[in-house]
Amino acid sequence: MPESSVAKSIFTCSCPRCRQGKVFTYKNPYHRRFTKIEKKCSKCNLVYEMEQGFWYGAMYISYAFGVLLSIPVVVILSYTTELEIFQITGVIFILLFLLMPILFRYSRIVFLHIFIPYDKQIDAEKRMK
Ligand SMILES: [Zn+2]
Repeated sequence: MPESSVAKSIFTCSCPRCRQGKVFTYKNPYHRRFTKIEKKCSKCNLVYEMEQGFWYGAMYISYAFGVLLSIPVVVILSYTTELEIFQITGVIFILLFLLMPILFRYSRIVFLHIFIPYDKQIDAEKRMK
């Protein structure tokens, strides 16, 4: 079985250390309780919230995602439509609101992957069982 990649781990919202355990309780990002995160990994027992307020840092990632999403929308809409800038701002506001659960989820997952390195040992132990 090939080693799972960091991109796959982020895409599937998996634990950054073992790349197998799930981070979010509900798979659907649009579930009513989409913010619910498991206390620890079911495979390697990694505690996800390492310290009080750990997730505040994910807001910076979320901000970056928002900006990276907004810039192309502004450029595309301003060149292809007759919309005023405040209308484009409204479109971006609606877009970011609709994508909020996904941005929330991936900002936390990317933040986790920045701070917790992949542990090959754990992955190898799991494969032997
Ligand atoms: Zn894990």
